[in-house]
Amino acid sequence: MHVLISGGAGFVGSHLCDRFLFDGHRVTCVDNLLTGRAENIAALRSNSQFRFVEQDIAEFSVPAEKVDAVLHFASPASPPDYLRFPMETIRVGSLGTTRMLEIAHAHGARFVMASTSEIYGDPLVHPQREDYWGNVNPIGVRSVYDETKRFSEMLTAAWHRERGTNSAILRIFNTYGPRMRPQDGRLIPNFIAQALRGEDLTVYGDGSQTRSFCFFSDLVDGIVRLTLSDEHRPVNLGNPAEFTVLELAEMVKKLTGAASRLVFHPLPSDDPARRRPDIGRARALLGWEPKISLEDGLRETIAWFQREEGIL
Ligand code: UDP
Repeated sequence: MHVLISGGAGFVGSHLCDRFLFDGHRVTCVDNLLTGRAENIAALRSNSQFRFVEQDIAEFSVPAEKVDAVLHFASPASPPDYLRFPMETIRVGSLGTTRMLEIAHAHGARFVMASTSEIYGDPLVHPQREDYWGNVNPIGVRSVYDETKRFSEMLTAAWHRERGTNSAILRIFNTYGPRMRPQDGRLIPNFIAQALRGEDLTVYGDGSQTRSFCFFSDLVDGIVRLTLSDEHRPVNLGNPAEFTVLELAEMVKKLTGAASRLVFHPLPSDDPARRRPDIGRARALLGWEPKISLEDGLRETIAWFQREEGIL
């Protein structure tokens, strides 16, 4: 296959480039490097099966060369990033998604929309199943991300319904692993970087809020399965093991051996109180479930942060 990956220099996107190349496919990666990093794909630049285009995906033209799958992973994804780049986040999830759909449709390619658990907002139903419509503040600060992702899902569903585009929607729950930037601002890279620097760990709110953390390799495996399937309905991908922020802090302290203290900061507005995927659909349709425990995944991520010279 020839696979087009938008956001292919980002955390998840670059791991997808690696995986599709490893499986013997050709990859075109389009990324404007707003939050992606050239270092993530540096090792691929000499691979004849890999092409990198540094461009805003909303301006990327329909390629003449046949495309078999379009994976749309471009977007700032961490709360501090999308709050820093609100207009860019809206643009990539509206004009960018439209352009990626146009390309997939023109080539009769499979289209995979990277959506998010954020579309459930601060959920009133727990755990979250795909048929739950969510509880989102449409004008809150996070809406530049979660409403834009909902808009992308709408576009994807409408193109499938009205034009027959072969689309998939994937709702990604919190994912972590090597290639997250320490300055990314999300919980796991923050705690690991703080612990390794011997700084205090910053807990927002009282730390009783929960998240369910999936190691990147499990997610990538699910994405490949979904790409190769013919499912059109949304599919949750995430690890259902749920932890509080305080539990995560203790685990990071234990695994790094850091003596860091916890310092408490105000909870960001509209921060969801609980989040855990119901992965029944992914299990039944894709035969998928995560294999890596939080402790094992954190060990590997901590080791990567320690190895990456100068990244801290
Ligand atoms: N969080 C925290 N300390 C940090 C960063 C995040 O306590 O240094 C909390 C944040 O308020 C949220 C959870 O950790 O409740 C997960 O935040 P993250 O930014 O990783 O992703 P989200 O799931 O909110 O998109």
